[in-house]
Amino acid sequence: MERHGSPPADYHLHTPLCLHAVGDPADYCRRALDAGLEEIGFSDHSPMREDGFDSWRMRASELDGYAEGIGRLRAEFPRLRIRLGLEVDWLPGQEEWIRELSARRPWDYLIGSVHYLAGPWALDDPAAIPERRRRDAWEVWSEYFDRLSSAAASGLFDVMGHADLPKIFRFLPDRDVAPLYEGFVAAAVAGGVAMEINTRGLRKDCREIYPAPQLLRMARGAGVPITFASDAHAPEEVGKDFAAAVALAREAGYAESCHFSGRKRSMAAFR
Ligand code: ZN
Ligand code: FE
Ligand code: FE
Ligand code: ZN
Repeated sequence: MERHGSPPADYHLHTPLCLHAVGDPADYCRRALDAGLEEIGFSDHSPMREDGFDSWRMRASELDGYAEGIGRLRAEFPRLRIRLGLEVDWLPGQEEWIRELSARRPWDYLIGSVHYLAGPWALDDPAAIPERRRRDAWEVWSEYFDRLSSAAASGLFDVMGHADLPKIFRFLPDRDVAPLYEGFVAAAVAGGVAMEINTRGLRKDCREIYPAPQLLRMARGAGVPITFASDAHAPEEVGKDFAAAVALAREAGYAESCHFSGRKRSMAAFR
């Protein structure tokens, strides 16, 4: 039976500017077309106000070149709708900087991601695995979801990135995390923000899409819309595992996903 709708848009692609992704952005576009996608969005790691905060993001002076480079791809790939986004780190006290960033270019959307907890230390950095062994998993998850909920409620973002990132290295609390999910979903409703289904988790130790099915079902119940995301850091990862992402979305009750243009959201059926 033929399904209605468009192929999912892959709204989470990186570029080598962040220093840990590889491949020419044009090759990400070619791969998207080969995979049958009609729409993609680049969302590379945004700069901090001070360069040198860490070693996995573009410098502040590279932001305009990034945006212009994506603009040139639009001319080169007229059959592909190419959106311009950023994956912005949420850290307490950075709100003013995030507002400045959002005014710098005509972004189609901003993804808000929590990678850092107080220290700061990054949850998804393998170098922090010893730190995670020492820490109580429930405390880490609680701190993470507090931050994620603040970010979601801030109104600064269009989409929340990889919502249950703390599972990445499988340090899981022995307590029910549903109350953490509930707090986040309420914040996402309050902030009017979407959540991505991010397949990168399948390629990490957790071997599971972000977010877990339970969190996705709660989001669906509360009316939080979704986007699709490979979180590609190499051309061959564009659209990766999207059949699994679509199946997960359908199981949770979704039939439509969000599209963004100039930070305006519209909904369309996916297939
Ligand atoms: Zn990255
Ligand atoms: Fe991320
Ligand atoms: Fe990413
Ligand atoms: Zn990411």
